[in-house]
Amino acid sequence: MTEVVADAAIFERDEYACQQCGATGADASTLTTWSIDSHPVRSSLVTLCSSCGALLDGADPTWRSTLGDDVHGSLFSLLETTTATQGATVAAIARLATDVTGGPESADESDPPTGRTREAYLATRRDVYRSLAVVDRHLDALADVSADTDTATPFDDLDPSVRSRLETVDDLMRTLRTHLRSAVVLAETAVVADGRCQVCLEPIAVRREGDDASSSDEPDRCGACSNDRRAIDEWETTDGEVDRTRLFRALSNQLEAAGETTTELTDETGTLAARLAG
Ligand SMILES: [Zn+2]
Ligand SMILES: [Zn+2]
Repeated sequence: MTEVVADAAIFERDEYACQQCGATGADASTLTTWSIDSHPVRSSLVTLCSSCGALLDGADPTWRSTLGDDVHGSLFSLLETTTATQGATVAAIARLATDVTGGPESADESDPPTGRTREAYLATRRDVYRSLAVVDRHLDALADVSADTDTATPFDDLDPSVRSRLETVDDLMRTLRTHLRSAVVLAETAVVADGRCQVCLEPIAVRREGDDASSSDEPDRCGACSNDRRAIDEWETTDGEVDRTRLFRALSNQLEAAGETTTELTDETGTLAARLAG
């Protein structure tokens, strides 16, 4: 059963501010909600302003409208925006990882998944998915810009060395996104391993003796929020326990890889930016 949530309640929780750009809309007519989950519950919904909402619904990022006037300048702003968005995403995912691996000593039974409050985990999760979605929109627009097309684009005259560096940056951004997405899946898997739905944090009903979930083709759905839960089978030992050490190691490996890619990306972006400015 999915609860029905009024937008007004979400606006109020988010203090009538766009969670992406910070724009405020006291009269609420400029605000909208956007869901990070396929079956939205209160914790899935995010307040956005109309332009950030339009971006996540498929509109082109604003830097795209400047293409053609000043190719180097707009490429520069593209790099700036995408890098900043990815930086915010890395930070949000690092917070999520801390939330779920905080360790049993900081755990408060009434406040899953760790010592941080339930609301803090859910808010971090909203930040994570919103930023990932914004990164996706920028990378889509970037792919359009550098795509080989028959129609002339302002980028046809780009210096080949700039173009090839742009491709390297684009590759690195996509690699970073892959590491980040994997880290999110692992962090959410840790929540399910602790017996909670990663979306609504409701306890997972204990499987009865004789139940055979593996024989079913149905995805493992949360009874409380209807969203698919992260699968933990891959992390279970032969005696049915979740191997948390292995799970946390995999999570920290992804975060480490994301860190290394970010360093490389910072170098490449800096070189490219210098070339565009010069
Ligand atoms: Zn906004
Ligand atoms: Zn749930």
